[in-house]
Amino acid sequence: MKVLVINAGSSSVKYYLYDMPQAEVLVRGSVERIGEKNSELAHFFADKTYTQQTQVKDVEDAMELVLETLVREDVGVIKCLSQIGGVGHRVVHGGEEFTGSVVVDEAVITSIEKFADLAPLHNPPNLAGIRAVQRRVPDVPQVACFDTAFHSTIPEVAYMYALPYELYEKYHIRRYGFHGVSHRYVARRAAALMGREKYDINVITCHLGNGCSITAVKKGRSVDTSMGFTPLEGVPMGTRSGDLDPAILFYLGDKGYDVNKLKTLCNKQSGLFGISGASNDVRNLVELAEEGHERARLAIDVFCYRIKKYIGAYAAVLGVVDAVVFTGGIGENAVYLRSQICSDMTQIGIELDLAINKETRATETEISADDSRVAVFVIPTNEQAAIANDTYELTGQNEPIASEQCCG
Ligand code: AMP
Repeated sequence: MKVLVINAGSSSVKYYLYDMPQAEVLVRGSVERIGEKNSELAHFFADKTYTQQTQVKDVEDAMELVLETLVREDVGVIKCLSQIGGVGHRVVHGGEEFTGSVVVDEAVITSIEKFADLAPLHNPPNLAGIRAVQRRVPDVPQVACFDTAFHSTIPEVAYMYALPYELYEKYHIRRYGFHGVSHRYVARRAAALMGREKYDINVITCHLGNGCSITAVKKGRSVDTSMGFTPLEGVPMGTRSGDLDPAILFYLGDKGYDVNKLKTLCNKQSGLFGISGASNDVRNLVELAEEGHERARLAIDVFCYRIKKYIGAYAAVLGVVDAVVFTGGIGENAVYLRSQICSDMTQIGIELDLAINKETRATETEISADDSRVAVFVIPTNEQAAIANDTYELTGQNEPIASEQCCG
């Protein structure tokens, strides 16, 4: 069965066509710079690359281009769209309603629309992707995979903010957590690598990419996570501040910063970029730090220190930690940062094999020392495979809507 996976954001749409259940990627690609004059489609299939420069106005337009390209005679990989048995979408916010992936129907669409209030930058383009497929191939079932769903098991004690309770009741202000598809995927891979059942393992998963979040996974279920009501909370990120004393914002408000300026400050001008004043990219920062750039060094030190603090806090939450997982662009590749984060943690059972760590980039590898009580892994995340899997599981009983003859 062919499963199309869509990750639609406001300025890009990424897509993957899988052959399931063997999870073979038949084609992958993206439409970047949506809404600009120089939008570009990049389409990778059978060791070939096809690119097309064109103006793409919005996500719906981008989806049209993707669907057309999939069935083109020269670069397409299927004859007609009804050969697709299911389409899986990454949807950022499922509020308190969705505890797992679901088949999309009108009620689901209404809920995704409702939660756009909580994720105004993400849910609308996610929904535009769903609508575009619905319009073009209305009979193909679609599945929504929510970034928040894996964290729906977080108990009240961890999701409640110490604000007046009415704000939770009235505005649903609570911890939701994000990157759930990734945390779930790597936690399950860690269990598999340890030869354990997925519900038989306590893991601290560190998703460190452009956005960063840490999750405490107890017996296979998320019990706490560093991102909160929005993806701004938690550890510092490329340009996001992470945890702050909220009074800093009041103080800056008194100094004349308005809400929009504060939003930009915390989301776009802080984190690694804000401290270093040089870059949000760890590759550049490591180079600069080696050349003696003091604020690049400080940015790295603050980043590693705050992650170490979360790992310690989640070790306390879990009681017993079986594994720590590093994933995301930084977690998979930044050898030096992994060793800095895990330094001096022998007391809580974490010790790296520095030689193996040094050699490990973006491959599934155990990087802990033989006598480390806690196993430490690098596990490349694969959110698209997890979405393809959910879509297959939820729609896989159905044969594709149309048989080959519809293709003429
Ligand atoms: P992601 O959002 O998961 O694609 O991660 C992107 C971030 O990963 C980049 O901004 C870099 O900071 C970091 N990154 C990617 N490749 C490397 C690398 N080889 N070494 C260190 N950091 C890297």
